[in-house]
Amino acid sequence: MLTARAEIDLNALQHNFAKMKQCCPKSKIIAVVKGNAYGHDAILVAKTLSGADAFAVARIEEAVALRQAGITRPIVLLEGCFCAEDLVIAAQYQFQPVIHHAGQLADILAATLPQPVRVWLKVDTGMHRLGVFPEQVAHYVAQLSHCANVSGDVGFVSHFYRADELSAPTTHEQLACFIQATAPHPGEKSLSNSAGVLYWSDAHFDWVRPGIALYGISPRGDSSGIAEGLQPVMTLKSTLISVREHKAGESIGYGGNWIADRDTRIGVIAMGYGDGYPRTAPNGTPVLVNGRKVALAGRVSMDMMTVDLGPESQDQAGDEVILWGKGLPAEEVARHIGTIAYELVIKITNRVRRQII
Ligand code: PLP
Repeated sequence: MLTARAEIDLNALQHNFAKMKQCCPKSKIIAVVKGNAYGHDAILVAKTLSGADAFAVARIEEAVALRQAGITRPIVLLEGCFCAEDLVIAAQYQFQPVIHHAGQLADILAATLPQPVRVWLKVDTGMHRLGVFPEQVAHYVAQLSHCANVSGDVGFVSHFYRADELSAPTTHEQLACFIQATAPHPGEKSLSNSAGVLYWSDAHFDWVRPGIALYGISPRGDSSGIAEGLQPVMTLKSTLISVREHKAGESIGYGGNWIADRDTRIGVIAMGYGDGYPRTAPNGTPVLVNGRKVALAGRVSMDMMTVDLGPESQDQAGDEVILWGKGLPAEEVARHIGTIAYELVIKITNRVRRQII
């Protein structure tokens, strides 16, 4: 019997990539595949996206794994190298580190590298997490462009922090700041994440960096990928492993925090927090059983979760369950749980087999 599995729809992935390209035909695409491609399998995704001009990851280990799997296209290290030794690895494998603070500048100026690397300078245009301040850009560019370890022009990146809010004034401010800080310099520019690609056509520049939209999920928590012309890539599925009748007044599961208000049938699904389904999912979180939406009833345990199938249900052990994906947007499930769909997909554990469809 098939239990927890994540179906990965490669046609949907290609469709979403084409949609990104359609939104910004003049920009090159850095497909963001960090976090094992947001839980979708980074090597599979990178091998499938033959049209991507580059990939981006957060950790050097992720980049090494892609190279070792035969991915030859440019790989950007979004947070740069964390120490001088990483720079040597980056040069060996020809990764492109982002530089965002003085320590990283000092490391690259002092390093002895086997070959020069292309670098990006991260500008803090308002997110206030990583990046050099706009008034420091000229200094960094001057230092880096005279450094023998750096090949070509220094590129520029910045990151939006509210581009998913269509009326946020901060996105206009970040855009203006990015243009002003980088205009005097010749290097290529990259600002947009998925929200920038989808909603801010002035912000596309030379390179865009979509992540979540590639996986068919909207960057807006109050929307869904389907509503935005995307297709879900991951459909998280499992199976009913038991269906039993319970009397009104009986509680279900750990803590007894769900009590049947009528006689009903309770389905047990082979999916739990050990598979990455959030333990914090409250009663009422939607689940599709045989294509019908039913509600979580009782606490999610390590390997199982329980749903109220209703007194009239015909569902049986062995029937298929969809936790999110086709027919049930991950964004909708995330809203019930009080999180974002990014967190849902990335947390699916290795116990859940990825099945290519
Ligand atoms: N660029 C950077 C620097 C990021 O950190 C991320 C993801 O967090 C992305 C691009 C992709 O963002 P999204 O998944 O919202 O498209």
